[in-house]
This record gives sequence, C-alpha cells and structure tokens, in this order.
Amino acid sequence: MGQIAGKSLTELKRLLDRGEVSALEIITSFKEQYESDRKKPVPLNGYIEFFSDAEELAVKADEARKTGTSGILEGLPIAVKDNILISSRKATCGSAILQGFTAPYSSTVVERLMNEGIIPVGRTNMDEFAMGSTCEYSVYGSSKNPVNREYVTGGSSGGSAAVVASGQAPCALGSETGGSVRLPASFCGTYGFKPTYGSLSRYGLVAFGSSMDQIGVISGDPDDIALVISVASGFDSNDFTSEDVDFSALFPLKRMRLKGKKIAIPEELSGEGIDKEVGIVLERFCSWLRSEGAVPERVSMPLLKTTVAMYYIIAPAEASSNLARYDGVRYGLRDITGNNLEDLYVNTRTKGFGDEVKRRIFLGNYVLSAGYYDAYYKKAMQVRYLLKKELNRILEEYEYILSPTSPVPPFKLGSKIDNPLSMYLTDICTIFANLALLPAVSIPAGTTSDGLPVGMQLTGRMFGEKGLLRAAKTWFLKGRRGEI
Ligand code: GLN
Repeated sequence: MGQIAGKSLTELKRLLDRGEVSALEIITSFKEQYESDRKKPVPLNGYIEFFSDAEELAVKADEARKTGTSGILEGLPIAVKDNILISSRKATCGSAILQGFTAPYSSTVVERLMNEGIIPVGRTNMDEFAMGSTCEYSVYGSSKNPVNREYVTGGSSGGSAAVVASGQAPCALGSETGGSVRLPASFCGTYGFKPTYGSLSRYGLVAFGSSMDQIGVISGDPDDIALVISVASGFDSNDFTSEDVDFSALFPLKRMRLKGKKIAIPEELSGEGIDKEVGIVLERFCSWLRSEGAVPERVSMPLLKTTVAMYYIIAPAEASSNLARYDGVRYGLRDITGNNLEDLYVNTRTKGFGDEVKRRIFLGNYVLSAGYYDAYYKKAMQVRYLLKKELNRILEEYEYILSPTSPVPPFKLGSKIDNPLSMYLTDICTIFANLALLPAVSIPAGTTSDGLPVGMQLTGRMFGEKGLLRAAKTWFLKGRRGEI
C-alpha cells in the first residue's frame, strides 16, 4: 500500500484497469499519507479538508467497476483547490468571508471528471481568493514546501502543489489568474499546466480576474494532465468564453520530436533580475533542448518588462468588481452587530477579508475611478493588446517561449509577506501567458545547490496544449531514463 501513494494518476489507472488494486486501497493509502503528515511537528497543511466520505465513494467505485458501469476515471482520486466548486461540499477560497458556504452545484470541470468516476478527495489550501504568490495569505495558515518545510510552496495553488509533491494526491486541480498553478508547481518540483483561456470552462471557479481566470492541473506526470484535460475541456454553455476545442485525443502523450524547432528565450526573463542558480538550470535546460536538435535563441520582447504593472492594474480592477458580491447577505459570513444595512456590509467585509484582498479591492477601485481610469486601467488594457500581438507574432516564428517559471528559487516563509511589491515581482515570468491567454507549462527542471526545486516554463500558441504537453512528456521520459 505504501507504494500507491507515490504513483501518478495514469499509473494508478493502469493498476485499477488491470484489477491489481482497488479504488478503496488507493484512496485509503492517500488518506493515510495525509493523516500521518498531520501528526508531524510541522504539517504540510496542503489540505483544508480531506473528505470523510472519500473511502465510501471508493467502495462504490469498486462496485461500479465490477458491474461494468464505470467511467474511464472510476475510483481515481484528485485534490481540488478550495475555489473550485464541488456540489454539497464547502468552498471558502481560503477566506473567512466564505466560512459556512456550501457549493450548490459543481464546477463544469469537476462535474465532467466526476461523470467519468473521479473522486475528489479533498479541498486544498490557497491564498485568499487566489491573491498571492506563496500560499501564506490563507485564513487556514500557510502550506509548507514538502522539500523543506521552512520554505513557501508558492501560490496561490500552494496546497494543490504540496499534496501532489508529497504523495498525498496523485494529481490536483488549481487555478490561475497570474501564474498560480505554475509557480507552486515550480517551487514544489512538479508539473503545472495552465491551459489556453477558454479550453476549460470557468463555470464554478470562483471569479477573481475573469478575463484571465483558468482552471489548471498539477501532477508529477504530464500524462495525468493530458488525461484530465482530455475529459474536462471543451465548450460549456454555462461559460460563453469557453471554446469548442476537441482535446479528447490528448491522452496518452507521445514523445515530441524537437529537432529543428525554434524556441525563443526572452532576454528580459533570462538575464538581469534572474537568480544565478535559476540561470544555471535554464542553461542546462537549453543544453538538453539543443541535444534534442531544438534551436533555442535569445529574443528581445520589451513589453515583458511591463507585465507586472499591467497585471496588478487589470487583475485588481476585475477583482474589485467580482468581490463586490460578498456583502454579508448572500454568502458565508454575516456580521449583524451594526445598526443598518451599510453597517452589515462594512462590518462583514472588514472582518471577512484579509489585508491582501483589501489591498486589491482598494487598488482596483482606484484604477477604475473617474479621473484615474484613463491613466491606469485603459492604458493597461491598451498595452495588453500590444503584448498579445507581440507574443502571437513571436509564436508564429518560434514554437515555444522558454523562460524560468520564477525569477527566484523558493524562499523562506515570512520573508516577503510584509513587502507586497517584492511578492508581486515573483510573478514576472508567469503573468504574460495569462494576459495573452496562452497555454503554458512549468516543468521541474533541476534544483539549487540547496536542493530546492527550480521550474522551467514553456509557453505555446493558443490551443497548442498538445505540443506543450508532449514537450513536457519528452523531458519527463528523459528523467525516467536517469539522464538528468
Ligand atoms: N500571484 C498572482 C496574484 O497574486 C497570481 C494569482 C493567481 O494566479 N491566482 O494575483
């Protein structure tokens, strides 16, 4: 049983399909991993809740397999970020303001996976409302990096990355508005994938920055990601920004022939400002690409210098509008200590939101307010348009854009929490993909001299998920052969 916990979703599927293991054994094994970690002096705190009925559901899945009524994911576990709705389960977005809220319906992505028999086993920790880069801004306390518990997991999907990297789940759903799947995947040493905007429905993903929000997948094996996307993707009438893509044949992934493929490395994300040890891993990754026959080239993309400024205008602007709905009337927390309706709003929001969320609401309202709208929001949207154009032009000539996932390796818990600007700068390599709606994958590419994980990121063309995941799989297979 001990061996189950380290296995990927696709390996477990193979074992289940062959009848070599039961769903109950699988779920019990992951639960035991979680329970034993909880007893440690510093638990990872990846799960906010491990569902108490997960084993019961596994028994049902085993029965369905026996009676031949099973789906293709029957009995397989997945962990789900706390901002992705699962019908009749709690969902709190790591926030006090949603305490007591139970989801009345499932997100489309979860529903499609559950229709094929997957078992969501628990809710994972996150920065409040997905605003953060470390998973420290959670009302449940920070998650810890499984490689070294004094370090951050990255965020905001830190719980999802921690449970996957520590063998408490084979695979997890996270969400991205600006790198929140790729960054923690990179810090915890797993694969993290953000699909093209529109590939996966956003229905049932609690809104943060709607023009960028996407559900993403974290796993130790790109094939798991392909499997999940193949089942969950495609048009959904509940989300008219979703696209009619057909990724049903994404899984299983084949190796990618990288020979002759041109890969652009932005000068702006590979020189100054990039940590030396991260730079070394980038160089090694380039050597591997060359050994596969690919042609990495440095290319200047000046607009990449503006993405942090752009993102931290657009995302808070959208958030300030999306978070207006938490008024103490409709969801979760309600403070009735005041005298009137205005008091109800003010007291609930003052008590319910943490400092970072309040900072974003202030920022968002400011950049949208009369007199500042043109100078900030409108300008940011104009530059966003230019960025999309520039990146799409580059991606006509080059197959992928390669950069580190983060400019720095994982850092110690608490070291950036009082300095929002330095926290925001952690996102410099990831957010261009969100602004330009492009798919991107973080690949565990090496470690620092202290053994901390360092991720490399490939960004591809709109709806180019197949090529990206195949490239990631090619790297994965090289690791399997022990060549790293
Ligand atoms: N770190 C970014 C932020 O705080 C990313 C968040 C996200 O992708 N959800 O906004």
